[in-house]
Amino acid sequence: MDSADRLMQEIAARRADLIELTQELIRIPTLNPPGEFYREICDFLDRRLVRHGFATELIRAEGAIGDSDKHPRWNIVARKDGARPGECVHFNSHIDVVEIGKGWTTDPFGGEVIDGKIYGRGACDMKGGLAASIIAAEAFIAICPDFAGAIEISGTADEESGGFGGVAYLAEKGFFSPEKVQHVIIPEPLNKDRICLGHRGVWWAEIETHGEIAHGSMPFLGDCAVRHMGAVVSEMEDSLFPALALKRTDMPVVPEGARQSTLNINSIHGGEAEQDPDYTGLPSPCVPDSCRMVIDRRFLIEEDIDEVQEEIHGLLRHVQENRENFRYDVRELQRVLPTMTEKSAPVVQSVARAVAAVMGREPQYVVSPGTYDQKHIDRIGRLKNCIAYGPGILYLAHKPDEYVGIDDMVESAQVMGRTLLDLLE
Ligand SMILES: [Zn+2]
Repeated sequence: MDSADRLMQEIAARRADLIELTQELIRIPTLNPPGEFYREICDFLDRRLVRHGFATELIRAEGAIGDSDKHPRWNIVARKDGARPGECVHFNSHIDVVEIGKGWTTDPFGGEVIDGKIYGRGACDMKGGLAASIIAAEAFIAICPDFAGAIEISGTADEESGGFGGVAYLAEKGFFSPEKVQHVIIPEPLNKDRICLGHRGVWWAEIETHGEIAHGSMPFLGDCAVRHMGAVVSEMEDSLFPALALKRTDMPVVPEGARQSTLNINSIHGGEAEQDPDYTGLPSPCVPDSCRMVIDRRFLIEEDIDEVQEEIHGLLRHVQENRENFRYDVRELQRVLPTMTEKSAPVVQSVARAVAAVMGREPQYVVSPGTYDQKHIDRIGRLKNCIAYGPGILYLAHKPDEYVGIDDMVESAQVMGRTLLDLLE
């Protein structure tokens, strides 16, 4: 039997270990926000990986957005050097999970196994992927102890809130510099036979319209900022949304509905602030002097960030030309450029061969509609040879009764193991 077959068997034989590891990770409720139990999950991973011969480092993202003494942003980076010089393959998983939400029929932090699936918040996004990468690495080291290069496994904070206390911080500290790491695989839940090459860009902005406060019984003495915002919304309906629908991309974004430019209005707020739920009084009669809208524009690799911004500024100038007393401001909240790794990149080629070997079919190449930590590895780390590949069904992420299939985890661990064999043997 050759080493590839032995490795496939070894990973399959570790199925019970994979299940237990996933359950243990789910049972640490690393909710973000606020960012709880990061230290506990890092300590847990530390104990496990040290036992398997990894050198580990726990890094707190001191001073990063979100980091505080109450909720410190802890990260772990583990490294196992091989017997000979070679390249480094890095598996990066985020350790945080989003809020539970309503509608669960299973314990969100129980890690229950029902019909071949493990349930819990973070099961698919992405503790199942983290567990699969650990099992793949441990099995590979057992079968090929004299491998070349190095394997790194990181567990990082805050991906769900932008990754600034996690991958961005580590990238700034040089953990993803191309001299140190040559291949990065992020086991996000993109389905076991798909290779995710990157993601669309993001531009978040807040538009504020200004008015003048007055008594609500005499609105003609003031100027209603909410009506001004209404004019912005109707201009968006008339000209912007139809124009965005026509901007198509060659990026293989899934789902297909996201294969175009999109804009979401995240929120609109005008006038008096909302009161606490226990407030029993009535609102006061005032003409709103301010209205704020947060927009979430997702853009394509074919689009330029300056054009994306100019589109909104142009729309607002157009409203101003046709409307008396229309005054506004635009504030940028966040920008992330689109990223897409070439299909010819070594890590893509290697994972594609592994998918074909394990599953007997070619992988599907996809791009994510939303961003994930690849943005920091690309922009700060300057490392282009990076993809997302992992078990779990994308649409289950952040939903009630989130689960990950055990067979899927085993198969994706086999793909990860074969990738290590391909790049490091
Ligand atoms: Zn995720």
